[in-house]
Amino acid sequence: MTSAIEIQGLHKYFGDLEVLRGIDFRVAMGEVVCVIGPSGSGKSTLLRCVNRLEEPTSGTILIEGEDITDPDTDTDAVRRKIGIVFQRFNLFNHMSVIDNVTIAQRTVLGRSKEEAEQIGMENLKKVGVSEKFDVFPRRLSGGQQQRVAIARALSMDPDMMLFDEATSALDPELVGEVLGVMRKLAEEGMTMLVVTHEIGFAKGVADRVVFMDEGVVVEDGPPGKVLVDPDHERTRTFLRMVIEGE
Ligand code: ADP
Ligand code: MG
Repeated sequence: MTSAIEIQGLHKYFGDLEVLRGIDFRVAMGEVVCVIGPSGSGKSTLLRCVNRLEEPTSGTILIEGEDITDPDTDTDAVRRKIGIVFQRFNLFNHMSVIDNVTIAQRTVLGRSKEEAEQIGMENLKKVGVSEKFDVFPRRLSGGQQQRVAIARALSMDPDMMLFDEATSALDPELVGEVLGVMRKLAEEGMTMLVVTHEIGFAKGVADRVVFMDEGVVVEDGPPGKVLVDPDHERTRTFLRMVIEGE
């Protein structure tokens, strides 16, 4: 079966700095893959290559079988298939919640105001913030803002979702509400590539866990293996640090 995402021999340099040093892995349709690893190991760069916010230096990325590193690829069409949620919520602060979730539907997908609002409200309901539809982001907690950001991404009908440390900027008591929404999406069958330090989430939700360090995939396997009995000492050391820091 065609993979949702297939990465082959991906290298990325920033100047002389080789940040991704030959990455290979795949995400099947409907699969949830969590990527863990120390700061600076290239996790964000990897996600940014997948939706072409960064240009890979070499290697191939196939999205649903289509080579998006081909210069003829329509990058906008690729991006439309992929929702992405960042650490910082990136909402438009001068727009209400409902405008935040409808603007791209209208400008990019050409939906009418009415249709965009209906779809936006459904997704706000799904993430549990529909009653805040007419307020501005600064009135919301970080957890609510991040849930709006998820609703905004979902309103574009993506085939897959990327999360880059979506809960790292949140106060600890707000992390659970965002992870809960992500868990629900996973249960509904959304294809997800999730960079996270939430080992409990990875254990409970991921089909596979990828451990990255210094621009390579060190370990790739089921959570029960990678998080519990990894093959490599550096995975063990990393897990010890993350778990002790909690
Ligand atoms: P992670 O998300 O795992 O913390 P990143 O992908 O953000 O890692 O960064 C990996 C390395 O690439 C770091 O050394 C970082 O400083 C560097 N880097 C990231 N983006 C850029 C950029 N735009 N220009 C130069 N260096 C960058
Ligand atoms: Mg990062």
